[in-house]
This record gives sequence, structure tokens and C-alpha cells, in this order.
Amino acid sequence: MAKIFCVANQKGGVGKTTTTVNLAAGLAMLKQRVLLVDLDPQGNATMGAGINKATLTASIYEVLLGMSDVKTARLTSDTGKFDVLPANRELAGAEVEMVELERRETRLKDALATVADDYDFVLIDCPPALSMLTLNGLCAANGVIIPMQCEYYALEGLSDLVNTIKKVHANLNPDLKIIGLLRVMFDPRMTLSQQVSAQLEQHFGDKVFKTIIPRNVRLAEAPSYGVPGVCFDAASKGAQAYINFGAEMVERIKTI
Ligand code: ADP
Ligand code: MG
Repeated sequence: MAKIFCVANQKGGVGKTTTTVNLAAGLAMLKQRVLLVDLDPQGNATMGAGINKATLTASIYEVLLGMSDVKTARLTSDTGKFDVLPANRELAGAEVEMVELERRETRLKDALATVADDYDFVLIDCPPALSMLTLNGLCAANGVIIPMQCEYYALEGLSDLVNTIKKVHANLNPDLKIIGLLRVMFDPRMTLSQQVSAQLEQHFGDKVFKTIIPRNVRLAEAPSYGVPGVCFDAASKGAQAYINFGAEMVERIKTI
């Protein structure tokens, strides 16, 4: 049965989508069966996986509102070799429309249960907010991967996310745990990066992933070609780091 992970951080621009797309592609290279769930109305993960968000016939929006199901709406990323439950801006409306519905926090969980046997990993790319959409992600997941930049304000806001995860764990999803903090866009030449990185290790111990994702321009260029960075330039430092992270996750799920 698939293990389900949210890639979450309520800050924007911290590397959630880059991490979700490249971890999906990295895991696929390691022969894992992966479904990427795009839970952000911006649809960046959908586009990054090479799927045109403008021409979708069904998306996660219809799935959440019960007008379609995952088996109908999912597509395959040809470049990444993983499946995608795609999103586009329609999804922004789901936030309001779901309020009226029963079991509104668990609609994604219920939908994903129908494909649990098709995958080893389900990776959910969360929007940059602690919203009803993110709550659906957290209710569906076994664990949370938190990408962070090692900068001065990185820890600010982390406590809000940790508190939300604790509340969801206590009230809605006893399975939920923080799998780990992933250091991304890391620049080893910056003393501050080194200091914040060391602080994270001190505070969070083995909750900090061993793999560090460097700042790498190839990862930033890849989305404009609709190809995951891991496939765009597999030899680049960024791609190699995400493939290593995939291997670390494959090991980590054995203990979950
Ligand atoms: P989020 O989903 O949290 O908003 P993104 O994954 O979209 O963040 O990343 C924000 C920006 O940073 C994007 O332009 C992306 O290409 C770039 N980026 C992300 N990770 C890296 C990296 N390791 N090296 C260089 N650029 C990166
Ligand atoms: Mg994003």
C-alpha cells in the first residue's frame, strides 16, 4: 500500500514544488511507483511534470468535489515516468465549495484510498497556506516533508506549521508525523547557511534529512521545459541530490 507524504511549508517560494516534482522523478528512477498530487491552484507541479494545465478534462478539483475520481483524472508524466493528479486555477474555488460538504477535511484521503494499491509513494504538493486544501493534504498523509531554506527567517513560521501538524495529529489523523526537514537551495559558501543548518540539526536531530539540496540553476531552468530537473540534467548537482533524497526516502519508509 502506498505511503502518502505532504510536501508542506506555508511560505511561498521555499522549494515545495521543486522538491515534489524532483522527488517524484527521483523515486521513479529508483523503480518506485509514484503518484504526484498537485494540491496548489497555481498548478506549478502539473506544468513541471510536463502536463499542460490549460487542457485538462478532469483535475483534482473535480475529484475533491465528487464530480470525478482519481482513476479518471490522473495522467502520466512522460518525462518523469510517474502519475500526476493535476491541478489548475479552478482548484481555488474548491476551498469555498468544500465548506458546504460533509467530511470536508478527508475528501482527498477518501479519494486516494481508491488507488492506494497502485503506488509505493503518493507525494502531495501543498499550496503556500494553512488552508482547507492543505488540511486535506495533512489528513490524507502518513507524514510531512518540510523543505526549508537555511536563512535567518526560516525558523519563523515553522512553529505555526508544527502546531497545525500537532492539531491534525490529535484531532483528525493520528498517523500524521513529521518525516523530516529538508534543507534546500543550500549555498555552502554562506556562513549563515552553515549556521542555520547546524541549528536545525541541534534542534531537530534525526528529523533533519541527511541529504542537502544545493542551489542549482539547472533545477530552476527545468520547469520552463516541462521536464523535472532530475531528468533535464541528471548529472547536475541538483539532480544528483534529489536522486539521493529519493534513496533516503526509500530507506526512511521502512521505519515508518
Ligand atoms: P514553492 O513551491 O515552495 O513556492 P518552488 O519549488 O516553486 O517553491 O521554488 C521557488 C523558486 O525557486 C522557483 O523559481 C524554483 O525554480 C527555484 N528553486 C527551487 N529549488 C531550487 C534549487 N535547489 N536551486 C535553484 N533554484 C531553486
Ligand atoms: Mg509551489
